[in-house]
Amino acid sequence: MQNMNCNFKGVYVTNIVWLRDDLRLQDNPALQSACDRGETIAIYIKEPNDTKTEARDWWLHHSLNKLQTALKNVGVPLVFAEGNACNILPQFIEEQNASAIFWNRRYTEKGIKTDGEIKTKYKDSKVLCQSCMGNLLFEPWEIKNKQGGFFKVFTPMFKELLTLKTPKPVPFTQPKEMRERVQSTLTCTLEELNLINSNKIWHKSFEPHWEIGEAAAEIKLQKFLEEKITHYKKGRDFMSDNSTSTLSPHLHFGEISPRTIFDEIEAFALSNNLENHEGIQCFKSEIVWREFSYQQLFHYEQIEQKPINEKFKGFPWELDAEKFTAWKKGLTGIPIVDAGMRELWQTGIMHNRVRMIVASLLTKNLLIPWQEGAKWFMDTLVDADEAANSANWQWVAGCGLDASPYFRIFNPVTQGEKFDTDGTYVKKWVPELQDLDKKYIHQPWEASEFDLKLAGVELGKNYPKPIINLKASRERALEAYAFVKNQA
Ligand SMILES: Cc1cc2nc3c(=O)[nH]c(=O)nc-3n(C[C@H](O)[C@H](O)[C@H](O)COP(=O)(O)OP(=O)(O)OC[C@H]3O[C@@H](n4cnc5c(N)ncnc54)[C@H](O)[C@@H]3O)c2cc1C
Repeated sequence: MQNMNCNFKGVYVTNIVWLRDDLRLQDNPALQSACDRGETIAIYIKEPNDTKTEARDWWLHHSLNKLQTALKNVGVPLVFAEGNACNILPQFIEEQNASAIFWNRRYTEKGIKTDGEIKTKYKDSKVLCQSCMGNLLFEPWEIKNKQGGFFKVFTPMFKELLTLKTPKPVPFTQPKEMRERVQSTLTCTLEELNLINSNKIWHKSFEPHWEIGEAAAEIKLQKFLEEKITHYKKGRDFMSDNSTSTLSPHLHFGEISPRTIFDEIEAFALSNNLENHEGIQCFKSEIVWREFSYQQLFHYEQIEQKPINEKFKGFPWELDAEKFTAWKKGLTGIPIVDAGMRELWQTGIMHNRVRMIVASLLTKNLLIPWQEGAKWFMDTLVDADEAANSANWQWVAGCGLDASPYFRIFNPVTQGEKFDTDGTYVKKWVPELQDLDKKYIHQPWEASEFDLKLAGVELGKNYPKPIINLKASRERALEAYAFVKNQA
């Protein structure tokens, strides 16, 4: 190993890449920009205002661990620190005599503020401070509608995006000068970040469901393209079909970039003569839904809390603590909802259609504020993402962009019958109903005493009676939602 990257005084200079939600080597413009200049150190800072939770901390720990090994192999040490990035980074830059710092942009309000402060500090300095675009297909301000504003409706945005040439991913090239280790008084070990410790055991149930890291994400994408994409459009709504990519946590942590995904879909489509295949188009559109949610995160203040549609200010929500707890625990007595909430608790993820069903039940039938449901999802999903989660909860509640209209209230029974026809999904996550005839699997309260007894189900004893009447609560929701219609 050599340290050849010297400045005019003969003191070696180094480049820093500050990694955040871009835990990968491939298509990482910030990492590549640093490596192109020479010797590079990567740093990950656990910031005090990070909203990570046990589910995501578990993922983060393993992702950083994998990344540290991968970076070490190419001569880039990854170090860790904890504290306010605005304090740590300048000290680290000075301590390491760094000549440049790079990062990929993030889009949360807090993130933009912190990054802006650091940029300002280095504005007229000898230290080059540069942010790059790495986590989206296009910047949220780049895709414009005919009026020059940003898109508030998805379909025209998708159409517009397809007319643009998506930038090619940046392949990784290792720096000419490798660095073996970093001496610093500011850094700590990955273990000292305390992302997982022996007091936290909930994540243990996630372990069998996931392979974490960049290499795993790439394999998953390839397998998805080869085995599932042609069936994706038809299969993606069926909970037990296993037809979706499950790439969302990998995308959230930046183990794979959307540009890599787009590029590989296009290469796959081209080599298999599938350019216009509905599966390809549909999967691309989902990646663009992700972009759409990042546009919303960027353009609307406090999207996690404030309804985008201002007519929802003062909406008559009712926070019934008991019902909310039943929802969180998967004990509502409505099988498809309970299955989804338990899948979430045990695996850290939930099928998209079931997310819509449980969110609709919470915000419409139960009239519990969408912010409460969104917070629970943020606390429990391994793919919890400020942009996608907020935009989707606002969408289901009816106050978001291009939102589901207020009168669209999912009926969990008919949804279950349509997308989990034989009850496989419910039986997997709600084993109490394992032996119930499929005719009643989505509405056990309709089964006769005889059928329930035959299946070993005692409503109110080993499986709850429904916490609400679906028909009456639907009517109540429509009345409450009339509030929005009546706002000027
Ligand atoms: C109430 C609610 C909350 C949600 N919260 C999140 C969240 O915190 N994080 C998250 O990544 N997704 C969220 N979604 C969107 C969606 O449910 C997940 O992205 C999807 O289920 C992940 O599974 P997958 O990777 O197999 O998706 P696939 O069907 O394989 O889709 C590929 C990718 O497209 C993106 N995508 C798909 N659907 C959406 C969507 N509706 N909005 C934004 N991006 C999308 C994701 O990055 C996903 O990985 C939420 C949806 C709802 C209804």
